[in-house]
Amino acid sequence: MGNMKFVKLFEPFQIKNVTLRNRIVMPPMASRLALPDGEVSETLMNYYEERAKGGVGCIIVEYSYIDDKASKAIPGQLGVYDEKLIPWLNELAERIKAYGARVGLQINHAGRATSKAIIGRKPLSPTALTVPRGDEMTKELTIEEIEEIIEAYGEAARRTKTAGFDFVEIHGAHGYLICQFLSPSINRRTDKYGSDRAVFALEVLKRVREKVGEDFPIGFRISADEYVDGGITLELSKNYAKRLAEGGADYIHVSGGTTVTVDKFISPMCYPPGGLVYLAEEIKKNVKLPIITVGSIGDPFFAEKVLQEGKADLVSMGRALIADPELPKKAAEGRLEDIRPCIRCNEGCYRRLREFKTQRCTVNPLVGREKRWEVIPANSPKHVLVVGGGPAGMEAAGIAALRGHKVTLFEKEKELGGQLRIASALHIKADIKKIVDFLSRQIIKLDVKVELGKEVHLETIGKIKPDAVIVATGATPLIPDIPGVNKSFVHTASDVLLGKGELGKNVIVAGGGMVGCETAIFLSENKKNVMIIEMLPEIGMDIEPNTRMVILKILRERGVKILNHVKLKEIKDGEIIVIDKNWKEYSLKTENLIIALGSIANRSLMPDLIDNSIKFYAIGDCVEPRKSINAIEEGFRIGREL
Ligand code: SF4
Repeated sequence: MGNMKFVKLFEPFQIKNVTLRNRIVMPPMASRLALPDGEVSETLMNYYEERAKGGVGCIIVEYSYIDDKASKAIPGQLGVYDEKLIPWLNELAERIKAYGARVGLQINHAGRATSKAIIGRKPLSPTALTVPRGDEMTKELTIEEIEEIIEAYGEAARRTKTAGFDFVEIHGAHGYLICQFLSPSINRRTDKYGSDRAVFALEVLKRVREKVGEDFPIGFRISADEYVDGGITLELSKNYAKRLAEGGADYIHVSGGTTVTVDKFISPMCYPPGGLVYLAEEIKKNVKLPIITVGSIGDPFFAEKVLQEGKADLVSMGRALIADPELPKKAAEGRLEDIRPCIRCNEGCYRRLREFKTQRCTVNPLVGREKRWEVIPANSPKHVLVVGGGPAGMEAAGIAALRGHKVTLFEKEKELGGQLRIASALHIKADIKKIVDFLSRQIIKLDVKVELGKEVHLETIGKIKPDAVIVATGATPLIPDIPGVNKSFVHTASDVLLGKGELGKNVIVAGGGMVGCETAIFLSENKKNVMIIEMLPEIGMDIEPNTRMVILKILRERGVKILNHVKLKEIKDGEIIVIDKNWKEYSLKTENLIIALGSIANRSLMPDLIDNSIKFYAIGDCVEPRKSINAIEEGFRIGREL
């Protein structure tokens, strides 16, 4: 592979005696695809195999727990705590290496970042305090327990080497045990592990080195800034990095953030890309070791620039490789328009994990189902009619066409994208446009006949005579049945986001879900005084946690007023009547009212199809309004099954 555009990115790189074919790294990311006791599963192997096949330089397999006592962070986590795990870890390493990628394993102890429900006992930490999310107390580690854990790290590294991995990475970032020892905000010990907070990390590194020998590369991941008061700062990390280098680390993987600042390392789309590169750059100035940078890097040009400017030696692309395992290959071949873009929505890869589910991906339904859902050519090609060009319709059309079906897609608007087109209107959500553009490009490439600005009626179907009809007509805004709702100063959130209608200076948004919050931001950007009214005690409850944090911050900064526990009762001229939780009614003056109270499935075509015995498949929001992860998945599924 070689491409003039990417001089550095596709240059081989050497860490000790291990040569990487290029400088793209898949960083460790929890997938929850391991078996209950931490064993490698076939699903996990297929997931990594696909990424190795896609041309990445090396894969650092996700954090694996080092003992069966208290180191496990989450169910579904991979383990390296016992000899019995080695055979399948070996199978995993070999399958990855078979495609020319190098492979490392990240080893970890959760410390306080776990719970009794997971490990069956009190979580351990350098100093007794509560777990990051909850009021469960941890137990302060004794010296004997610390020594035992150091030994467990060593043993885990030995197993990693025995299992055929090329290197091992010690996880010292993101608020897990080593990070807890390094952090002044957590480690208040008065013994040697507290008077010098780097001692634990250095002793772990020393023991790991003793177990794996001089030639085996050891990487160390750090959070160079925890972004919390009294936590690890960049200045402190420069010192830690120097000492880790002296202590025998072979590279440093520079991340940032901790358990309460997850948004820093799994950033939402409203953050600029590559927000942690400056940390790597600063650490690189201080140590002579290879430095890996990470954090919201999905654009190969951006990665190339980071390398050209000497800010890092290697670039981790995490979610970008979940979204498209073939990113490196496509970039090398100059097929950039074919890269399925990660939109940093965090729905499949982070929110699902928070909900105890396996990793998936909004834009790539194959994640975690690489073999099970393989796309194979259709036995008997059909003529497929897709009604609706939103995410579900476009995905269904693309997959059906890829399998050899002849596909016609009708969209009643003049543009493709459906709800996503509206969702991407806000500049902080512009990443969403990338997937709309990608899906649109792909269906054109696959010769899907696209008819824009045309609605489908029974007669249309009669003329086209398709073999299969897919209904993906999406949803329309829910308009509550209350007096005054048809007044001219009332608009829907989607109309506002699409720039329709003149608005006054003072505006009320009814509904504090994701759409309401985003509409409020949009309006405040346009210099409006905005108030959100919401029935629930809090707003934004349907927003992915990392994104929500940022959205709430923006709303606060912009001075958007929030009125919880109120219900819209009536709309009068220039005012609305609301009822609060004590059944008290009052009036709020406003120049405009924006309705953001959810949406309802658009099923207008279905009765005709049913009455005329036309078989159809309904997918996406027209079944029930949900998220794009559901819409794209259903589109994929039906496109694959037809
Ligand atoms: Fe990216 Fe969203 Fe997929 Fe995660 S779920 S990899 S953030 S597109």
